[in-house]
Amino acid sequence: MVNHGESALRVRPGCITPEPPPELIARLSKRRRSLSRQQIIDGILRGDRAVLAQAITLIESSRAADRELAEQILEDCLPHSGNSIRVGITGVPGAGKSSVIERLGAYLTSERGGSEPGQKVAVLAIDPSSKISGGSILGDKTRMQSLASSEMAFIRPSPSRGSLGGVAQRTREAMLLCEAAGYSYILVETVGVGQSETAVHEMVDFFLLITLTGAGDELQGMKRGVMELADLVAINKADGANLAAAERARSETENALHYFPRPANGWTPRAITCSAQTGKGIIELWSCVLEYTNLTKANGSFSVNRQDQARKWMHEIIEQGLMQRFASHPAIRRRMEALERDVKEGRTTSFRAARRLLEIYSGPKPSVSR
Ligand code: GDP
Repeated sequence: MVNHGESALRVRPGCITPEPPPELIARLSKRRRSLSRQQIIDGILRGDRAVLAQAITLIESSRAADRELAEQILEDCLPHSGNSIRVGITGVPGAGKSSVIERLGAYLTSERGGSEPGQKVAVLAIDPSSKISGGSILGDKTRMQSLASSEMAFIRPSPSRGSLGGVAQRTREAMLLCEAAGYSYILVETVGVGQSETAVHEMVDFFLLITLTGAGDELQGMKRGVMELADLVAINKADGANLAAAERARSETENALHYFPRPANGWTPRAITCSAQTGKGIIELWSCVLEYTNLTKANGSFSVNRQDQARKWMHEIIEQGLMQRFASHPAIRRRMEALERDVKEGRTTSFRAARRLLEIYSGPKPSVSR
């Protein structure tokens, strides 16, 4: 059954935050600055959510002074980070991501079986759609209200500015701060309609795809690419009249998963059914995450994956930094427009123009001496 109400093209309205007036920014920034670097670190390490939120705001700021302070804070937090389980969650709009996170969050933060104490859960989001559409597909402001009211949870919407690369970098940094603040589980949510799933996949330990039965053909292509990244596919809304269809979808999905190359970490990706409405399958979902982390920690691939991710982040940060420097170089800014025009109008080739700009930026390429 195709449910057009759950189209991937639905964008939630009402999430455009107007730029605050400059006086307010100045006042907030002054207040923020009134906390010293040490006070911010102490606040984060004792799990003060207000200080954590302020530190993330510093990370997201484009002001050079904020950025410098943010980097110092990150460096101080680094020895206290890395202890969480990082889970990426994706799915088309309407699949039930926020509903599943609410359920899962309630389960993880509560005392389980009276013996295991509740754990702190942070939910971070990556939603670069807000930049393009002026709205937000994740619609952060109105979601996960009951989890947001829990003292054990910290929910942070997607940074609203910047390219996907920039947003991903801010989210990774926010993740490190949350870990330093004692969050045991970090859930990074993104919407499955673009490149952002790959970005999330590269920053987490475990990748969960939430899907639906009968979500319509337009979603299937999207799903296939993402499915290849998934460690677990959860077919949500397995309740009421949809139960049998969800079970069928589960076994079809599990068959489909077998056609993908098996990951080298020894885990076989699975499919389960769940319902955020009734709570069915939520514990099973989390058991899969634990089983996966136990397996990969025991065979060493958990830390190999993290080391590999850290190495990739370094390269990404270098690339972004170089691009920023290049784009803001005065001589490049002077010549860029004219050279772009020359390329468009066929007066020079892309290759020549690019080489000219690179030479302007860093001088002629040194000749190789034999
Ligand atoms: P998201 O866009 O992926 O975050 O999806 P939401 O969590 O906002 O859910 C979209 C709609 O599906 C909402 O109206 C939810 O109430 C509903 N929904 C979510 N999970 C379930 C479920 O397990 N069963 C049913 N029947 N409805 C659900």
